[in-house]
Amino acid sequence: MLGDIRGEVRFKEPLGFHTSLRIGGPADVFIVPQDVDDIRKAVAFAEKERLPVVILGGGNNLLVKDRGIRGVVIKLEGCLARMEFHGEEVTVGAGASLAHVIREAAALGLGGIEPLVGIPASIGGALAMNAGTPDGAIGDYVSAVYFLHPDGTIGDLKPLNGTFAYRAFQYPPGAILLGARITLHRRPQKEILADIKARLKHKKSTQPLALASAGCVWKNPPADHAGRLVEKAGLKGKRIGAAEISAKHANFIVNRGGATAADILALMDLALERVQTRFGIKLEPEIRIVGD
Ligand SMILES: Cc1cc2nc3c(=O)[nH]c(=O)nc-3n(C[C@H](O)[C@H](O)[C@H](O)COP(=O)(O)OP(=O)(O)OC[C@H]3O[C@@H](n4cnc5c(N)ncnc54)[C@H](O)[C@@H]3O)c2cc1C
Repeated sequence: MLGDIRGEVRFKEPLGFHTSLRIGGPADVFIVPQDVDDIRKAVAFAEKERLPVVILGGGNNLLVKDRGIRGVVIKLEGCLARMEFHGEEVTVGAGASLAHVIREAAALGLGGIEPLVGIPASIGGALAMNAGTPDGAIGDYVSAVYFLHPDGTIGDLKPLNGTFAYRAFQYPPGAILLGARITLHRRPQKEILADIKARLKHKKSTQPLALASAGCVWKNPPADHAGRLVEKAGLKGKRIGAAEISAKHANFIVNRGGATAADILALMDLALERVQTRFGIKLEPEIRIVGD
């Protein structure tokens, strides 16, 4: 069955090669599909072998534990990466990079999605997380989402109020996101490029972009900032092993080289406990933690 897959199939693939944190043990089976049919075959294989399926986009929001994943990891970044522009809309596959979509749109004088600038993501990962900034999240611009049901059929949905929420997207359980239609707005290209430049500059000055991380570790609690709370709890710069609560932005945990998932989890436990004790607020992880 795996032999019928046209894309790549690897065994015991170290997931640290596929996450922005550069951390993660091996995936028992690692598949880079070439098309939707390959994804169907990978899912059918997992079902037959009763193995869990984990979908990986760009791995920018994932903490994979040190012993890896006893199951099938399907890496979609790069696969299904086509985009087609029609008027003020783009239809784009889940494996396309968000940055590439923003750049291609800008080249055509189409903007509107500049609030998403600087978020490292595949379109599938951005949708699953409803990635965004205080100025807007991807769900604000999406008019349709296409997905694969676990039974291999294709479905689509038009977002309603509440379909997308803060770092959350309600889609059918077990579905694999295949792509989306995104609404853009015609804007003078000069303005778009100036906006992109300013947003990237701001990110660079406020986030530890030179070091490996998975972005914000915690969701912001209502009317507050997780980074502020972690900092006020005295944890900015705190290290365990080679993991560090960033001295630049306390909602980031960075890998200073050779950190393990256990190091990151220990820092998260510490922050959770300190913030709860000091402020009575229970932080909720924004990063997704997977594996053994
Ligand atoms: C330096 C840095 C800065 C960041 N800044 C921001 C920011 O400003 N705002 C923000 O929101 N996030 C930010 N992030 C986090 C991250 O970029 C986003 O969460 C992004 O959407 C992750 O996309 P990805 O493709 O890497 O997804 P992954 O990390 O690979 O996956 C994330 C989740 O989505 C699921 N998933 C991925 N693709 C699919 C699919 N096709 N179908 C079903 N499920 C899928 C995965 O199973 C996983 O649960 C930042 C991260 C870094 C490293």
